[in-house]
Amino acid sequence: MNYNFFSPQQICFGWDRFQEVGPLATSLGKRALIIGGSRSLESNGVIEELKRLLLRSNIESEFVRTISNEPEVADVDQTTNLLHHLGAGAGDFLIGIGGGSGIDLAKACAAMITNWESDTVLDYLEGVGKGLQLKQAPLPLLAIPTTAGTGSEATKNAVISSYSPAFKKSLRADEMIPNLVLCDPKLACSVPPEITARTGMDAITQLLESYISCRAQPIPQALCLQGLKLALPALAEAVEDGSSRNARESMAHAALLSGIALANSGLGMAHGVAPALGIHCRISHGLACAVMLPATLKTNLSVRQKEYAEITRFIAPERSFTEAEAAQYLIEHIETLNDRINIPRNLSSLGVTQAQIPDLVASSRGNSMSGNPRELSDAELTQILEDLL
Ligand SMILES: [Zn+2]
Repeated sequence: MNYNFFSPQQICFGWDRFQEVGPLATSLGKRALIIGGSRSLESNGVIEELKRLLLRSNIESEFVRTISNEPEVADVDQTTNLLHHLGAGAGDFLIGIGGGSGIDLAKACAAMITNWESDTVLDYLEGVGKGLQLKQAPLPLLAIPTTAGTGSEATKNAVISSYSPAFKKSLRADEMIPNLVLCDPKLACSVPPEITARTGMDAITQLLESYISCRAQPIPQALCLQGLKLALPALAEAVEDGSSRNARESMAHAALLSGIALANSGLGMAHGVAPALGIHCRISHGLACAVMLPATLKTNLSVRQKEYAEITRFIAPERSFTEAEAAQYLIEHIETLNDRINIPRNLSSLGVTQAQIPDLVASSRGNSMSGNPRELSDAELTQILEDLL
């Protein structure tokens, strides 16, 4: 056995612990630069409350900007410029508050503000640009997730999109894992059912893909089992009753565990195809993962039956199954859950056409796909996508 394991330096998890943000943040710096991931955080007063709580601990703060969509190259470059105008540097730290988009933007800007070799993040992204490496440590970062999904609060990459040219690539460095995560499940209570469903399925996809990844490791696998045991029974409840404390806590914890797992183990086919569906068909990350997950499980069944059975026996220990039955149960369980929370079964209902499949296949070959337990040829991936139309 041989592995490295990365995680945030400190995780503060708990209902209503947002109130503790001031004392927690004092270790990070004297001025907070805040990046938000949703307009509703401004309109429902969360940002104002954040600033007030920080000030009570003598931390000045500047609200830099809100991003409503998954961050693009220009968003990172423009926000980094705003930070330069605010004189961001030693003694400052960033706060990323929101879903994956806001936290990813904050992570990317925290890195870009201290790395000067190029003024565009493009040159630091995997597989595009000049291939520059981050040499300086990012500014300290506090991540406050307000949706339970991407686990971005615990990962070492930020996903950055471009539509012309079309790509979705990561800015990645071990130092990009947020220093401090404040995870207060209460903050997710106002997330609408549709977003709860999609982001929750993203977390579940991450837990399953990390568990079966060809780079799977023992610590992440243990976390994945815990995360799945919490999330699988909780997601439908969180969608149907957004104020359920139990469901929101389970989903927030599962999402956090999914981030820690994927940062160490990688992912698989669903996360390989999801960015392609994002840039070519404008399908949100969580929805893309949710639609691709059953097909991903079926595609990998021949080499991961034992792992599927392990998961089933952990989440449903009261049932007696053969290994094959237990593996099948997991796949059917995911399909039933998707149906219950209104995730479509096919890609055509999301507007995907036959003519887009070659582009989708070509854009699916990123870091995530390399974690899939089986190598998939272009012909096989084409067939999988055609079967999903
Ligand atoms: Zn994901």
